[in-house]
Amino acid sequence: MSTDLSAATAADLRPAPDAAVRALTQAVARVHLPDTPRYRELTVTSNVVKAVRPLVVVEVVDADDVSRVLRIAAACGVPVAVAGTGHGATESMAGAILIHTAALDELTVHPEGRWARVGAGVRWAAVLAACAPHGLAGLCGSSTDVGVVGFLTGGGVGPMVRSHGLSSDSVRAFDVVTGDGVLRRATATENPDLFWGLRGGKGSLGVVTAVEIDLADQAEVYAGSIWFDGADATAVVRTWSVWSDLLPTEGTTSLAVMRLPDMDEFPEPLRGRTTIALRFTWTGDPAVGEEMIRAMRAVATPLIDSVAVMPYAALGAVHADPEDPMPLHETSLLLDDFGPDTADVLVELVGPAAQTAQAMVEVRQLGGRLRTGPDCAFAHREAAYQVFVLGLMIPEIAQVVAADARRITDALAPWARTGGLPNFTDTAGVAWAQRVYPPQVAARLRELSRAYDPAGVLLAARGVRG
Ligand SMILES: Cc1cc2nc3c(=O)[nH]c(=O)nc-3n(C[C@H](O)[C@H](O)[C@H](O)COP(=O)(O)OP(=O)(O)OC[C@H]3O[C@@H](n4cnc5c(N)ncnc54)[C@H](O)[C@@H]3O)c2cc1C
Repeated sequence: MSTDLSAATAADLRPAPDAAVRALTQAVARVHLPDTPRYRELTVTSNVVKAVRPLVVVEVVDADDVSRVLRIAAACGVPVAVAGTGHGATESMAGAILIHTAALDELTVHPEGRWARVGAGVRWAAVLAACAPHGLAGLCGSSTDVGVVGFLTGGGVGPMVRSHGLSSDSVRAFDVVTGDGVLRRATATENPDLFWGLRGGKGSLGVVTAVEIDLADQAEVYAGSIWFDGADATAVVRTWSVWSDLLPTEGTTSLAVMRLPDMDEFPEPLRGRTTIALRFTWTGDPAVGEEMIRAMRAVATPLIDSVAVMPYAALGAVHADPEDPMPLHETSLLLDDFGPDTADVLVELVGPAAQTAQAMVEVRQLGGRLRTGPDCAFAHREAAYQVFVLGLMIPEIAQVVAADARRITDALAPWARTGGLPNFTDTAGVAWAQRVYPPQVAARLRELSRAYDPAGVLLAARGVRG
């Protein structure tokens, strides 16, 4: 395999994309061209509306592969995107090289020091399974099908965020090939500027090949979901707005107004109607957690109540996010407050009597230890709640979903604050970066991007570089 990149690219007078593909096939083993079976597998996205169609997919097997790809891309002037699972696809990647990390699957748990080393292609489910025998927990998000590195580079707001903090606060080290093709290690003391930027900066500074994370001593949680009939929406949402405000930080909760389609894969009492799903994770003494949730259990008769002691490895059951690809429209906004007035507006907007095209509107309570972590590129620690609006882009309603999402976010504007979380978005580019990063954070990321990616190869950096 040739590593003489200049020879492979310099004398090539064909258009840059052709030259890049030719150089890649000479320098790297697993190069997948469009319309090959592996290309199709590696370009599957969980949101089918966000289909990706890169010039070529390179399935990297180590950091050297990543380095070669980035150097060839810089020499040919072709941008580079990165993916591990396709759960966070935001743009088509047209004309770009996609580095896919599925083969970077190392996973070692060090129970004595309570930490793990995790390759960039590993999903949370594998980490949770490997940690479970030791009674340890990695700070995952609501879905354990999501990639560890994609999640952590966006900060990571999980079902234990109030008790254990932002998930990227648990990162000890990143191994990253920066845009200039150099493998670097980033920790609090080694390349601390990169370490700052990788926790929230997504893929804007480099391709992470592995991450080292602290593990929490949490074999079990008292957690689950309580589903109420839409007819009880006003009482449930109003009570939750007051109750969540009083909840100690051992508890993390969200509430979702759901309109699940009338399909067999959903439990019978939940399909084809409006329901309210209260999600709850309590990391302290389960008996105290039971006391805490009692007030919500008493508001109305639940359709389903799954809150109980469960192994941490089963945490994905709390939100039970769907894993099959679907056509989705996603919108989110941050709130400073969610009191009874906001609750009433939400019920008016999406309760059982409302006309809405959304399948789910979720309000996640933030706060607690999320507020107190170290400075990093994740910028909105102070937000009190996040609203996530999810619509299905199915033919019957596709043309009204976006306008309906705007109707909801506009009505919640009196409680909204500027900004967005890096992980909860289905867009990319300048408008996205301006929303997610305040000016001083964007300026620092831009400076780092120029230093570590002088040729501007990384597609994800375009938002901050402008
Ligand atoms: C069902 C579901 C539930 C979710 N729940 C939560 C949640 O509770 N909390 C939360 O914070 N987020 C949540 N998310 C959002 C999720 O964390 C982001 O979409 C995340 O980017 C997915 O990462 P991925 O690697 O799985 O996806 P990919 O599509 O493979 O990657 C998405 C992006 O992550 C970055 N990235 C991936 N790999 C690398 C790498 N090796 N180096 C550098 N950057 C990389 C890149 O910017 C890339 O474009 C959820 C998403 C889904 C689909």
